[in-house]
Amino acid sequence: MQVTLCLTHDCTLRCPYCYAGEKRRKAMPWEVAKAAIDRTIAWQLAHYTEKDYVLGFFGGEPLLEWDLLQRADAYAADAARAAGLRFGRTVTTNLTLLDRGKADWLRARRYKLGLSIDGSPAMHDANRRFPDGRGSHAACMAALRLVEDFPAPRPEIICVVTPATAPLLAEGVRFLHARSALPIAVNPDFTADWDDASRAALRAAYETLAEEVLASWRAGSRPLHLTWFDGKLKALRIGGYRTCDKCDPVRRELAVAPSGNLYQCPNLVGDDDKEDLCLGSVQTGFDPAAVARVLARRGNRDPACRDCPAAPRCVNWCCCANWFSTGRTDRVGSFGCFHEKLSIELADRVAETLLAERNEPFAAWFKA
Ligand code: SF4
Ligand code: SF4
Ligand code: SF4
Repeated sequence: MQVTLCLTHDCTLRCPYCYAGEKRRKAMPWEVAKAAIDRTIAWQLAHYTEKDYVLGFFGGEPLLEWDLLQRADAYAADAARAAGLRFGRTVTTNLTLLDRGKADWLRARRYKLGLSIDGSPAMHDANRRFPDGRGSHAACMAALRLVEDFPAPRPEIICVVTPATAPLLAEGVRFLHARSALPIAVNPDFTADWDDASRAALRAAYETLAEEVLASWRAGSRPLHLTWFDGKLKALRIGGYRTCDKCDPVRRELAVAPSGNLYQCPNLVGDDDKEDLCLGSVQTGFDPAAVARVLARRGNRDPACRDCPAAPRCVNWCCCANWFSTGRTDRVGSFGCFHEKLSIELADRVAETLLAERNEPFAAWFKA
């Protein structure tokens, strides 16, 4: 199970598309972190046979609470070991507080890192700014060098694209790929209004990126790995996402707000004010009625998807993308549908082209 602690509502940056809500100096007390670890390990042991217990740190910016993060890490590692569980670690950071000492500490514990960098200076600094308005790109790129060579599990760059930055996306990804071998997750801002013009800009950028992916495989050096492409290609090979690939709230994913309130996904913690999404708290336990309500609304119940040929390879089950788009966790939005169809179309184009060309490195990766 993956349990994510949102250590603080505060952040060093003020990205306008932030899902994490208003920035305020409200950190998770140690007693809450400890209760979260104790309760979720007990929950896993009581309900599931799965042996992996993965603790994630999220925010706001979790490195603002570095002492708390280290203390929770050590406590959870001991508790998981005592419970006979395999312990894994993740942290999502905007990189602005990462220094050599923190990087070495994370590397020694084999953290899986999610690193927020939105491409080139122009694209990144359009949104990812400090409170005084300065862009953070230079600081992030300097910190990226500290983690670039982390062994497996490899870090992943998270690049958020908005309607305003869609025209900059292809150049932004090219910029990152020229400087880093890490895979890149392009995450569209699902809270935004993606009108026809911005969808056309996104399509143009994705088409350019599909060409970049083709070119990088043909060059035989360092393929460009875009996670949405790779995900669709993997789903193509195995005939669609499997149950274990899908998000499974409560059973496999839980998030804890700084207050101790429990949610199904860290992206849904936000201001910690969504009563209909809250599952209970680590202090009082799960609210059975709330759990039943959340589970009844997971996945996608749009009747339009029932006969769609793309459905097996569509992530219309992402509760948070659905909620940000439609206000319902179980109803995919029109932009989500557009994005899935576009991703599948382009991934198929890449796969068909490279397989027809008998590109051996790609064929070996595709079959692996
Ligand atoms: S770095 Fe992340 S948490 Fe901080 S403001 Fe930006 S999106 Fe929000
Ligand atoms: S591509 Fe669109 S219609 Fe098809 S399953 Fe996905 S969301 Fe539904
Ligand atoms: S709701 Fe979406 S983002 Fe959240 S854990 Fe599930 S798949 Fe991931």
